[in-house]
Amino acid sequence: MARSDYVPSYYVSSAHAAPERPALEGATDCDVCVVGAGIAGCSTALHLAERGFSVVLLEEHRVGWGASGRSGAQALFGVAASQAKLERLIGADGARAVWDVSVEGLALMRALIARFSIDCDWVDGHMLAAVRARHQRELQAELTALRDKYGYRGVRYVPRAELRAELATDHYLGALYDANSGHLHPLNYTLGLAAAAETLGVRIFEATRALRFAASGNSQLRVQTPGGEVRARFLVLCGNVYLGATAPALASKIMAVATYIVATEPLGAERARQLIAHNAAVADMNWVLDYFRRSADHRLLFGGRVNYSGLRSFDAPGATRARMLRVFPQLADVRIEYAWGGEVDITLNRAPHFGRLAPNVYFLQGFSGHGIALTGIAGKLAAEAIAGTATRFDVFARIPHANFPGGAALRRPALVLAMLWYRLKDLL
Ligand SMILES: Cc1cc2nc3c(=O)[nH]c(=O)nc-3n(C[C@H](O)[C@H](O)[C@H](O)COP(=O)(O)OP(=O)(O)OC[C@H]3O[C@@H](n4cnc5c(N)ncnc54)[C@H](O)[C@@H]3O)c2cc1C
Repeated sequence: MARSDYVPSYYVSSAHAAPERPALEGATDCDVCVVGAGIAGCSTALHLAERGFSVVLLEEHRVGWGASGRSGAQALFGVAASQAKLERLIGADGARAVWDVSVEGLALMRALIARFSIDCDWVDGHMLAAVRARHQRELQAELTALRDKYGYRGVRYVPRAELRAELATDHYLGALYDANSGHLHPLNYTLGLAAAAETLGVRIFEATRALRFAASGNSQLRVQTPGGEVRARFLVLCGNVYLGATAPALASKIMAVATYIVATEPLGAERARQLIAHNAAVADMNWVLDYFRRSADHRLLFGGRVNYSGLRSFDAPGATRARMLRVFPQLADVRIEYAWGGEVDITLNRAPHFGRLAPNVYFLQGFSGHGIALTGIAGKLAAEAIAGTATRFDVFARIPHANFPGGAALRRPALVLAMLWYRLKDLL
């Protein structure tokens, strides 16, 4: 497979036609260079261009090649860390500000889709489902906290009997339903954002890795690529787990965790509707979680089975299908047409990791599997900060992050041990 090709998936097969952008050849100047054309990078570029900055967006592969184009695509409120944890990390006011930004992130998605006519199958509704009795208690507590502390009215508790009418499975004991969250075709959304950014003047180069960057005097930065360089006043790094040697200081704060999705053959509208009556996206509350939803062409897209060991040898499609059949045994006769995986950038505390490596070098990472909505608003916050209003960006930048223990050699074994512990907890 050529370096610039997408990893095959249902999303790639159902993606709208998009232009192949050229690789950067030679030197070019701009106000801001953005690295990584996932949702974070495309949104950053778009919001900067809207504010009048000239922007160059560099992508090593293709627009949406990474997590953004392979995701479970459940757009959710909040961040991967709980609000209670955020309160401990940055105080009640900080946690409240993060919450407000996350809810605005959902509104921003809808607004961008409408404004730029992005054809990406958006559907309202998400359910967070309890697998164990303690999950039910946690959901009730979360419902109370969201309503009483944050004044959030979009959510309601769905008891088991009602849930059984929504989902054709006995697997779950209850769920928290949020009408404000939703799901979409993540690759078409990302491609749509990129196209929107281009209409505002952003120049996108694909097949162009940002190799390294350095200050070059007069507050200028030089970003080296294999065929040229970008000279910019600001740099925004949105490279997720793929950034690697481009910014080694960021790598120690995140761990790449693999997660897999299978897509069934088309089930037909009626059979798909029988599985998930009102077409909400669903995720369970286990640490090693399952997540699933219907596609616009009536498939079931089922994800889960994270691989923390970093070993590629296990049968990911088979294991993911087996998890799907535990929830929906009635799909035993159904063919799996697509299976793919991707990597999630988890932080040790599961809170997002935004900040600056230098006054003019920003980064957005650590979405911890909870980035479909948050990446978009994160890009808007980065643009705000570069334009001079850093208040909201700096709330996130205040969240403390530890390195993964053990340095490069021991990070993975340490995480495997931690994950064994969490998997045991899932069984209790
Ligand atoms: C299988 C899967 C399922 C998921 N499900 C959900 C879900 O249901 N809900 C949810 O909220 N989140 C989910 N996530 C997480 C979510 O998709 C991500 O948090 C989000 O898409 C991250 O976007 P991003 O722009 O930060 O990174 P990415 O989309 O990964 O984009 C980073 C881009 O940067 C490029 N890049 C990296 N380094 C360089 C460089 N040096 N030079 C040039 N380019 C570079 C890469 O090629 C890549 O295209 C899932 C993720 C995966 C993998």
